Amino acid sequence: MNTAKLKQAATFTWQSINQLLWPPVCINCRESICETDKSLCENCWDQLRACTGADYCPRCGRDASKYALVEGVCPDCQGKEIHFDRIARSGVYKDALQKMILAFKKGRTELDSTLGFLANSALQGSSFYDDIEFLVPVPLHWSRRLARGYNQSLVLAKKLKHPRAKINTDLVRIRRTRFQTDFDDYKTWRAKRAANVAGAFAVRYDHSFKGRRVCLIDDIKTTGATLNECARTLKEAGASKVFALVLAVAGQKQ
Ligand SMILES: [Zn+2]
Ligand SMILES: [Zn+2]
Repeated sequence: MNTAKLKQAATFTWQSINQLLWPPVCINCRESICETDKSLCENCWDQLRACTGADYCPRCGRDASKYALVEGVCPDCQGKEIHFDRIARSGVYKDALQKMILAFKKGRTELDSTLGFLANSALQGSSFYDDIEFLVPVPLHWSRRLARGYNQSLVLAKKLKHPRAKINTDLVRIRRTRFQTDFDDYKTWRAKRAANVAGAFAVRYDHSFKGRRVCLIDDIKTTGATLNECARTLKEAGASKVFALVLAVAGQKQ
């Protein structure tokens, strides 16, 4: 047996031993899977397909059939002050996608490949893909980043494939905002979320956003208050267009 064949046999044996000791499991639900080249089980793929398949409004990201759009936006957008120009989403915040995003924020950064794949599909399918010059992750306050160890939006932005767009971190969070989940009705909640993030962001003094087309990157859009405030800050700094890319849109109720 020549050296190459010996090496091949050794690798094969090592892989078999590894599989025996560490049988392949789904990276989301940890169910065992047969095909070793897959990272998710069939059930999780099915769930992901179900929550990433629907049509959505390109202005706010909520579920909307393309036939329900009036002048390109859904009825819910009419009359609302939205500072970002367009949004792309991978899916709806539920089932396997919700579980993966939550786990991704709680330290399971190895999910970045699967979530990156979903984000890339959404970005490439968007109407603004060719226009983007900067990818701008929604920043965390430094104290929260210190506690978590990373900013999940930046980790996600690093997985995005684009021929020209560069990651730009000149948008910063200057004020720590509270997590708010305790309001009775959605409208009150939305208003309070907007008040909560007002003035929370700023750009670095030597930023290069003037006249540029940027795309904000975040994991979830709930009321849109955070993205809206980031977009407002970037436009004030001179950005000509602000787009947004999120993994999931939550809060589909009115
Ligand atoms: Zn699974
Ligand atoms: Zn809309």
